Amino acid sequence: MIQFHDFGIDVQTYAERGKENVFPLLKKCPHCRAKRPLHRHGYYERNALTPHGDYRIWIVRYRCGFGACHRPKFVEILVIKR
Ligand SMILES: [Zn+2]
Repeated sequence: MIQFHDFGIDVQTYAERGKENVFPLLKKCPHCRAKRPLHRHGYYERNALTPHGDYRIWIVRYRCGFGACHRPKFVEILVIKR
């Protein structure tokens, strides 16, 4: 599942900050609705293609192992360009 989050910065800044971006705290699992904080579970790199240039950005993944998520499910956060 992909969730969108407005980091309040442009893609270039997001790319420069890499894993140092201020990633949101997910207090609830969007899969099973368990109200327990999801833990960050690694990152992966993707290309971000924009009219102003192409960037390599890090996407963070969150993992849930609670409730109905017997097998860990993941939530991924994508940057929204302003
Ligand atoms: Zn869950």
